[in-house]
Amino acid sequence: MSGIIGHTAYAILAAKAAESRKLPVAPLIRNHFSSYLAGAYLGCDVQTVPAAVCVDTGESLGYGSQKMERSPVTGGVVTSWFLPIGDRKVFPREIHETFYGRSHLILGWAKEARDETISWGEYLDFAADVAGDAVELFGPGHRALAYTLGWMTHVSGDGLIKSVLDGINLNLLDGTYTAKNRPVQDLVTFNEIGKKELDLNWSVILDDLATTPVEDVQLHYMRCYPRQGRLGAHFPKGWAPDQEGLLRAVLAENRRYQRIRNSRIISQLTLKPGPNGVLQCDEQLSKIAGGLNYREMLEAAEKANFRHALWQIGELIADAFEKVIERQDILHDFPTTDGPTWEELGKRFWSP
Ligand SMILES: [Zn+2]
Repeated sequence: MSGIIGHTAYAILAAKAAESRKLPVAPLIRNHFSSYLAGAYLGCDVQTVPAAVCVDTGESLGYGSQKMERSPVTGGVVTSWFLPIGDRKVFPREIHETFYGRSHLILGWAKEARDETISWGEYLDFAADVAGDAVELFGPGHRALAYTLGWMTHVSGDGLIKSVLDGINLNLLDGTYTAKNRPVQDLVTFNEIGKKELDLNWSVILDDLATTPVEDVQLHYMRCYPRQGRLGAHFPKGWAPDQEGLLRAVLAENRRYQRIRNSRIISQLTLKPGPNGVLQCDEQLSKIAGGLNYREMLEAAEKANFRHALWQIGELIADAFEKVIERQDILHDFPTTDGPTWEELGKRFWSP
């Protein structure tokens, strides 16, 4: 189960949509593509930490606050993972409850903080302020802005796929986004759309994304920083500068652990020839998807028009970019010829 595959694909499709609409931010996305993709996943999913540690091997396992009884590697005993902060043990649940809503804004706040949830309209104002601050307070250059745009693809993408926002009509097996259809979404996105259609070199992309530095603008938009800028002026509430130290430790852990997860995700999603030579998917994923084999998954995705839903997500994210650009004058006049072309980028990120 990955999340990273879907969000990376949404971000790439949104970048291409922004390009074909000639949005003023399109060149700087190409110019800082690694920061854009880092923002699109780790700029938001700060709950990316291990769930447990294998007692025999010391390996980090699982994801976030997931329950884990035994090590899937050795079958042996596991202990709960925690982040040591001074003499305190910070467990994944606390990380999730403290920070998930702060990055996702429109969804996912802990029960006690539900009233912090902001509407889509407020979010667009919020994002426009962050984009302005990214240029003025977190420059020079546009790397922080590219990271911010990446983060925005994640907030919109989660809102759409988790049906908090209207706009996509996907009914794949048993709904839009369910435990059962998630492996189908991941496998089809990874293999058919990522590898075959977009020609992505997933191992380079995922490795790059996890090794690209954190941008301080993330502490700003998560409001775990001294209140300042346009965002501080328009959104005076919810600032928690005392959480900056813990958040920095979490963001570092996100990157450490994502590097470990990358090869596991790639090996789980890579198809392998079965006894009859036909390409097959991972058995465990097939089990989660109700026993479907890869061919049946492809049929289900086709029947649900899954590719169309992904197209819709890319276009709707580009709509959100446009609305943010409308709200923020500073985003209107970037040089439109700046940065590498898609072909030049391709030499690094696309398949050899
Ligand atoms: Zn998310």
